[in-house]
Amino acid sequence: MEVWYSSTRNGGIRIKASEAILKGLSEDGGLFVPDHIPELEKSFQELAGMSYQETAYEVMKLYLTDFTKEELESCISSAYDSKFDTEEIAPLVHADGAYFLELFHGSTIAFKDMALSILPYLMTVSAKKNKVKNEIVILTATSGDTGKAALAGFAGVEGTKIIVFYPKNGVSPIQERQMVTQKGENTYVVGIHGNFDDAQTGVKKIFADKELEERMNRQGYQFSSANSINIGRLVPQIVYYVYAYARLLERGEIREGDKINVVVPTGNFGNILAAFYAKNMGVPIGRLICASNENKVLYDFFRTGEYDRNREFVLTSSPSMDILISSNLERLVYRIAGNDPEKTADFMKALGGEGRYEITGEMREMLGDFYGGYASEEETGETIRELQKKAGYVVDTHTAVAACVYRKYVEETGDRTPSVIASTASPFKFTRSVMDAIAPVAASGDAGQCDAATDFELVDELAALAGKKVPGAIEEIRTAPVVHDHVCGKDEMRRTVEEFLGLQG
Ligand SMILES: *Cc1c(COP(=O)(O)O)cnc(C)c1O
Repeated sequence: MEVWYSSTRNGGIRIKASEAILKGLSEDGGLFVPDHIPELEKSFQELAGMSYQETAYEVMKLYLTDFTKEELESCISSAYDSKFDTEEIAPLVHADGAYFLELFHGSTIAFKDMALSILPYLMTVSAKKNKVKNEIVILTATSGDTGKAALAGFAGVEGTKIIVFYPKNGVSPIQERQMVTQKGENTYVVGIHGNFDDAQTGVKKIFADKELEERMNRQGYQFSSANSINIGRLVPQIVYYVYAYARLLERGEIREGDKINVVVPTGNFGNILAAFYAKNMGVPIGRLICASNENKVLYDFFRTGEYDRNREFVLTSSPSMDILISSNLERLVYRIAGNDPEKTADFMKALGGEGRYEITGEMREMLGDFYGGYASEEETGETIRELQKKAGYVVDTHTAVAACVYRKYVEETGDRTPSVIASTASPFKFTRSVMDAIAPVAASGDAGQCDAATDFELVDELAALAGKKVPGAIEEIRTAPVVHDHVCGKDEMRRTVEEFLGLQG
């Protein structure tokens, strides 16, 4: 059955998957949502015998119904290939009573690779289908992980350019090095004098600039987004929850139909929303455990029904979850509001204005599958330390937040259902914080110096401690030449884009 996409804020919209991927965000500010959540067509016995790529096809074909079999298979095989350092693509590792679903084996060692390695192919196929002649210019603001994953995904992809803005002094030394050493003639990286919010606001302004849009169009360009609100990022993320269940079944850890719980370290609510979609497609998932760091807006939301962003923004050791507006929550709100675009638009208007909204009691009743928890900075460090000591398993800070919340959940509820924890980054990507937890002396040895050189020394110490090889993604940037050194003021972003594209005059 064909799946159509409408906006969470406008029920009158009805477009195909390829159009939704090209647009990214609806013009009314809403997010694209499928008109129904399709059911899996294959049994889990059948899925248990499938590779990651085959599973991806079985899941994605149900959502991207205007893609042909050949188109989709070609996107999948181009994305999930030797860029990943394991054939399994998303291995499931048993440690300390839980299953860690490692989503960090792609080219930038964070889970963003799971979707951003396929998005460029989905986008170019969508452009062809819709007879788009323009070159597509991907504009991205990043606090670290998305930028590099999007750059790696779009580098060298014909018919596209990618421009990434990051806060010059707001990312880790390793994250910055990953970006400024990015090869590819169609890639542009710019540090801005400002924070992530400035970068994000600047990008949104450029998107909304009609005059620029017309000038771009005349010269054969159009903008698109690689942001996590793009349906082309959400759909590939559903795959690994189906895959994880099938693997557990294949290994005999569960029987067909047995429930599992899923624990997800959450920022923009994209990853856990994909798990929610998987559940609604027929994966026997019991609880969806939403783990936050000290920016615990979502924890408060699940506990009280009130979403309130009016609070202090805390910088934590899990920066990819430092976020007060979880964009993808809008898709869940839309669903529990009975797929009502007017109600959803009202809530989002309140969020944009007063910065808060409260859902109804009826809507709250529909959130029973969710459990919200959070971990403090101290608890996050402790969790890294304990997992290493007890199980010899080293996790990154984001995964540690999830592991900590999972432990609290079990203590509180006594629920021993087999649980899958989404492991979202390699510990090597956040070496300094991880070393702070497991070997504080080594981490502070350089008198608090924080630069790429000392971070690379820590990388070697971490490899020795964890008994792991340093990932290729880190080795690569150790010696790679810096090829991007653009820096601009936060008010110069538009001019910088015009310069890159030769739009002057
Ligand atoms: C982006 C990110 C998250 C948060 O995922 P959302 O889909 O935004 O909830 C968690 N961990 C890491 C390492 C990330 O890069």
